[in-house]
Amino acid sequence: ESRKYTGMVEDCCCDYETVDSLNNEVLHPILQELVASPFFRYFKVKLWCDCPFWLDDGMCRLRDCSVCECPDSEFPEPFKKPFQGLSADDLICQEGKPQASVDRTLDRKVFRGWIEIDNPWTYDDETDNEEMTYVNLQLNPERYTGYAGPSARRIWQAIYTENCPKYPSGEFCQEKRVLYKLISGLHSSISVHIASDYLLDEASNMWGQNLDVFYERVLRHPDRVRNLYFTFLFVLRAVTKAADYMEQAEYNTGNLQEDLRTQSFVRQLVYNPKLQAACPLPFDEAKLWQGESGPELKQQIKKQFRNISALMDCVGCEKCRLWGKLQVLGLGTALKILFSVNGQNLMNQHLQLQRNEVIALVNLLNRLSESVKLVHEMGPSIEKIMEGQ
Ligand code: FAD
Repeated sequence: ESRKYTGMVEDCCCDYETVDSLNNEVLHPILQELVASPFFRYFKVKLWCDCPFWLDDGMCRLRDCSVCECPDSEFPEPFKKPFQGLSADDLICQEGKPQASVDRTLDRKVFRGWIEIDNPWTYDDETDNEEMTYVNLQLNPERYTGYAGPSARRIWQAIYTENCPKYPSGEFCQEKRVLYKLISGLHSSISVHIASDYLLDEASNMWGQNLDVFYERVLRHPDRVRNLYFTFLFVLRAVTKAADYMEQAEYNTGNLQEDLRTQSFVRQLVYNPKLQAACPLPFDEAKLWQGESGPELKQQIKKQFRNISALMDCVGCEKCRLWGKLQVLGLGTALKILFSVNGQNLMNQHLQLQRNEVIALVNLLNRLSESVKLVHEMGPSIEKIMEGQ
């Protein structure tokens, strides 16, 4: 087999071949089971649009997302500037389209179990207020929604230009590169999911793979593929670093049989012998923040990441917002696991995760695993077709 991507994943500790075989044989099957389980398939989210940055674009006028308050915020000024070149026609809200809206159907039984049982993981943010919605993720796959054009582009642009500018090679320190690569890897993954589940014909409601989109947005840019692998390994490292916590947590939804099954899959994921043998340290976070400006840099990156997370409220399509929020929370949870709790530096700080954070983390890892699998399996043949070989 001739491979396009070989050697070590940049800044990581495993090579592409190993990642692909581990993902196919071990991780992907386990993650697919996990995300379908009653514990992991419900995500709590505020789907209102509280975009703190742009009040001018008329995007959020529809029912579900009309609350666009602008808090007295710490956000950088450039975010607030009106976007150049937007015309009223560009600001078509996608909220009304069926493929862009979120199905809120709940399995009442599971839902009830959840609410009645006190959650030992959370200490603040699980208060149920009216603005929170529980979403069954299985009913709302991340896929094509039609959300595109200037409104979508400006979110990505704000993320990249304000928060994690693409590094000219060698100029930025490794820590800044990490943030850029995480976002780029997530972006690749979102694009892969759009391409592999695309509304090909609206009239007949025909869905399928869009090879052009797959190629144009991801495959023809090797750095985007590399960043996808990097993000996958980074999140995988977070999950395995939190292994003890994940293993001991309660996966209680009121259905004992299901919950034991969930727990067993969690154990298989976090203490996987094949993973430990082939890729024991998917990413080495101990190498970061070593320099003099380490703490300052960490604060700065934390702030940038919070801004990225706030930008998710500006996403003008409900389903995209759902997955945007989930995956950014998942990344934030990975960052928290790898960078806030450091066995050596902060002896007394224990890892504490909220239920929603764990759900986001595992669902994010699953999305990345799906994307890596799709790129590995379909990439070579799509490239052949597109490059006319
Ligand atoms: P975009 O994907 O918008 O990319 C914009 C620019 O970013 C590109 O021109 C390129 O310069 C750069 N870029 C692209 N990919 C990368 C990368 N991997 N790394 C670095 N730079 C890159 N649409 C859906 O149909 N379904 C969804 O679930 C969905 N979720 C979304 C979630 C969020 C948070 C956001 C912001 C958008 C979402 N969208 C979704 C919209 C989708 O991501 C695209 O913006 C849209 O499809 C238009 O694509 P595009 O070709 O203009 O390029």
